[in-house]
Amino acid sequence: MGTQTVYWGEKRYHSLDYHLKNRFGQKIYKLSLNGDMTCPNRDGTLGNRGCIFCSRGGSGDFAASCALSIKEQIEAAKTLVAKKTTGSSYIAYFQAYTNTYAPYEKLKKIFTEAISHPDICILSVATRPDCLNDNVLNLLEKLNGIKPVWVELGLQSIHEHTARFIRRGYELPIFEKAVSALRKRGIEVIVHVITGLPTENENHMLATIHYLNKMDIQGIKLQLLHILKETDLADYYERHPFRVLSMDEYIKITGQCIANLRTDIVIHRLTGDGPKSLLLAPAWSADKRRVLNQIQAHLKQNNIWQGKEFKNDNYIQTI
Ligand code: SF4
Repeated sequence: MGTQTVYWGEKRYHSLDYHLKNRFGQKIYKLSLNGDMTCPNRDGTLGNRGCIFCSRGGSGDFAASCALSIKEQIEAAKTLVAKKTTGSSYIAYFQAYTNTYAPYEKLKKIFTEAISHPDICILSVATRPDCLNDNVLNLLEKLNGIKPVWVELGLQSIHEHTARFIRRGYELPIFEKAVSALRKRGIEVIVHVITGLPTENENHMLATIHYLNKMDIQGIKLQLLHILKETDLADYYERHPFRVLSMDEYIKITGQCIANLRTDIVIHRLTGDGPKSLLLAPAWSADKRRVLNQIQAHLKQNNIWQGKEFKNDNYIQTI
């Protein structure tokens, strides 16, 4: 392959940090907010036990208390990040559970309160693609006219056997329909995928990346599978111990994903983000700084950059 022609600051990939500094001229921090939601995969609509890896906090264990108003949560979350930032603009991030799974009026109230706050520059809403009806989509479109709205979709994998194993509860065409509906309304889409699932190897993961390269998405979160206490995955791990990825394996697979990823797709995350107090395995993932540094070193040593291996004619492998 040729030499690197695209630069993203000091990184070899299109990082969120670089993207936000370019777009807003300053570092922007995320504030995790709590919309007091549940999830159809937990409330009995689709299932009672949630996705197999999902913690009791609904994969959003850092959010503020829902006893506070959104404005109060923003102020409390700003205090938490105050030591890390000198900036004055933030992303309002609704992460825990399914943040479009509530009555329209409630969504309108909390999202409007968040986006209207003068210190908020982006509203980011994590949800399931099967929880985006026309009313919700129209609301998000309207809000997107005020400030940018991101919708984060938990895909995790394109492979049906994996979707069944993790009990995701929707099929791939639902995801495709949601992406298309969001993009028709000009809303940016960020997709979450998981590396290290016991049903997958590196080829499965790369097939997911090749598939996403063909989709009109703007961002990706590459997350390592965390086995967290008090999840069904923890029970499964105890009953059927499977080999979790070593740090070296994770770094190599992540390097391959980066090399194969379209250059315009912003990488929002390169590791997992689970609370240390709940982490059962892999233990090495608790040192997030070390993992990120090792990924940077691996990219440099092996002259890898985002898109190095990307080809327009990449096809989706059937595995
Ligand atoms: S869709 Fe999200 S919140 Fe719901 S069970 Fe799965 S991971 Fe948890």
